[in-house]
Amino acid sequence: MSENTEKVEQVIIIGSGPAGLTAGLYTARSEMQPLLFTGTEIGGQVTLTMEVENYPGFPDGITGPELIQRMQKQAERFGCRVVVDTVTEVALDEHPFTIKTQSGKEYRCKSLIITTGARPRRLGVPKEKELTGRGVSYCATCDGFFFRGKEVAVVGGGDAAIEEALFLTKYVNKVKVIHRRNQLRAHLALQQRAFSNEKFEFIWDTVVTAINGDQRVTSLTLQNVQTGEESELLIDGVFVYVGHIPNSQLFAGKLDMDGRGYLITDRFMQTSVPGVYAAGEIQDSRFQQVATSVGQGCAAALEAEKFVAELEDRAYPGEP
Ligand code: NAP
Repeated sequence: MSENTEKVEQVIIIGSGPAGLTAGLYTARSEMQPLLFTGTEIGGQVTLTMEVENYPGFPDGITGPELIQRMQKQAERFGCRVVVDTVTEVALDEHPFTIKTQSGKEYRCKSLIITTGARPRRLGVPKEKELTGRGVSYCATCDGFFFRGKEVAVVGGGDAAIEEALFLTKYVNKVKVIHRRNQLRAHLALQQRAFSNEKFEFIWDTVVTAINGDQRVTSLTLQNVQTGEESELLIDGVFVYVGHIPNSQLFAGKLDMDGRGYLITDRFMQTSVPGVYAAGEIQDSRFQQVATSVGQGCAAALEAEKFVAELEDRAYPGEP
């Protein structure tokens, strides 16, 4: 049994993206002394983005890592304890809830806010795994520089694919966007920028069926979904942006989730267990914006505060 078992935290937050850090800020300001576990990558997916252009208050844009740094600093200023550790187990069938971490510690808490986000979906084709880091990438911001002067492919037609393809044009000679339909999903402003960029080339109605190469990616095997025709595309690298998978494995069988693994919350951000809240992409397959995650993190924090106040029979602001 760990040194921490006796103490019952008012609130634990799992995850350090915009939703988690906002929940940390709000619960810290309401004097709940939140304990926030970062997971392996502080900041989550937004740190993979070079330029966040649509988060209000930053008219000239801000890099993902800097935005996260600022959010962390602001949460810590009010007393949020940010701990670099990963939660490996949760017990939610008894209250207070119990949390175990990779470092072997155990914690108990009255309320829990889950903001574990999502991870990139893989294509699931031969050699994708073996060649990851050898020409297969899921992060243009991290790896784009290594493709200076080369030709790369981007798979996907959503906001992420087009935004990251635009970022890659800083370095590469050509970006070939491979999309399974003949129409992009990305919003119009991004589409217009892509269509007017001469480094872009579009390969429509096409999927990647294999990634080829021994030490590094040398080509992709493509299939036209209309004609069934196969072809080989010689390429130096491939960036995959075909959506996300929610990081909800930890909660399987413990919290209600939809068929795709997103946690189900009510409009107060509460999951199927009272006192357990979820915010950000772990429960949001629709909006997935920094701004919406921040709002959801804020709402989850206010509800966690209310839940704990009611448990302790304390008055909650705005309630009789
Ligand atoms: P997304 O919107 O789900 O788009 C995924 C893309 O990958 C779609 O074009 C989809 O094709 C394609 N795809 C899915 N599975 C595939 C497969 N197995 N093989 C080939 N193609 C496949 O995902 P996202 O672009 O990562 O964006 C996720 C969310 O984050 C969205 O809500 C988006 O608006 C948001 N986001 C916003 C910004 C921004 O505002 N600047 C930036 C990044 C992301 P179909 O089109 O045929 O379905």
